[in-house]
Amino acid sequence: MEKETKCIVSGYTPKNGEPRMIPIIQSTTYKYDSSEAMGRLFDLEDSGYFYTRLQNPTNDMVAAKIAALEGGTAGMLTSSGQAANFFAVFNIANAGDHVVSSTSIYGGTFNLFNVTMRKMGIEFTFVDPDCTEEELAAAFQPNTKCVFGETIANPALTVLDIEKFAKAAHSHGVPLIVDNTFATPINCTPFDWGADIVTHSTTKYMDGHDAAVGGAIVDSGKFDWMAHKDKFPGLCTPDDSYHGITYAEKFGQGGAFITKATAQLMRDFGSIQSPQNAYYLNLGLESLPVRMERHCENAQKVAEWLQANDKVTWVNFPGLPGNKYYDLAQKYMPNGTCGVISFGVKGGRAAAEKFMAGLKLASIETHVADAHTCVLHPASSTHRQLTDEELEAAGVGADLIRFSVGIENVKDIIADLDQALALI
Ligand SMILES: *Cc1c(COP(=O)(O)O)cnc(C)c1O
Repeated sequence: MEKETKCIVSGYTPKNGEPRMIPIIQSTTYKYDSSEAMGRLFDLEDSGYFYTRLQNPTNDMVAAKIAALEGGTAGMLTSSGQAANFFAVFNIANAGDHVVSSTSIYGGTFNLFNVTMRKMGIEFTFVDPDCTEEELAAAFQPNTKCVFGETIANPALTVLDIEKFAKAAHSHGVPLIVDNTFATPINCTPFDWGADIVTHSTTKYMDGHDAAVGGAIVDSGKFDWMAHKDKFPGLCTPDDSYHGITYAEKFGQGGAFITKATAQLMRDFGSIQSPQNAYYLNLGLESLPVRMERHCENAQKVAEWLQANDKVTWVNFPGLPGNKYYDLAQKYMPNGTCGVISFGVKGGRAAAEKFMAGLKLASIETHVADAHTCVLHPASSTHRQLTDEELEAAGVGADLIRFSVGIENVKDIIADLDQALALI
């Protein structure tokens, strides 16, 4: 099936007389006829549900749809994108281990890695996404467990050379994890280019309507854990907290990663998405291809308009010919990138603040990537905890305005920009 069809039908097939829409299973627990039947679930001998802190049928249907869209073998929903990235990395990297990550990533993920996960004893080496293969290879250590990057980085809009990162990861015997939030599987499927695990903040385009915070993890099923047994004891040796199960043996290459993340991490951290939110997410997924097309079309027009405006010093949009990442974007996402643009206003910080105050249609939000046009000045809001040096390294200068183009009529979006820029 094509992606547009998967968005409608994947994950749930009602039988005769059953609800057309994915049912919301709003239940914490599940009833069994015998202790023996429930015990088999706890032993992971049978698949089924026993407690919604770990798994819920509504969530699993929606996760299966996202897995189908990404072309993966298994998927899970998490309570947020932060939880998805934490689980994806922590599932294979523990205290004493090391991770190679692109510097150009979401600020929240950077803090998660650089502050919180360091406190947990995991080391990170951050590399410029545009580094040479030699520089990338030099970042690896014997205890490196994975490589991390974002398809299109939020908010720097750098496009990851997925093949370059996948090649480096695989030659060091570790998987590549790609956060595919901005491109969505509609515009890019990282597994086609060698990525092994994909994560999402479903809070952005997937939900698409400012309705529900959520995250997702999908496994490609392509990484051979058992071929690198020594590096991944958590997957390849018995789990004492689960009756001695060896995930990679019992659930195979296609199921081990997600089963371990569910059975261990979801059990212990409980970062489950509520079934109600999963239902909203599914509504968003149904219209995702139509919305992405409009987001990209509108953003292209806005980017071109901004580029021609003399109050604007620079425009960063990977869909603009001449952009540093135009060629990579054409390679990895030829049908469009995303609806997010960044640009600088003539007159720096003060002018940027005037412009922000003048906007009427575009609303000031930390949020990005949904139906409503919204705008942010990261240096004075979301990224204020970063030092100037870290801001530069993350590709977010103090003058940067992030503009998330919605699906309103583009004439109204441009008219709003025009009147706000005129105030400068
Ligand atoms: C927003 C975002 C996250 C974090 O997701 P939440 O749902 O806000 O927890 C992670 N990665 C990217 C690329 C994001 O844009």
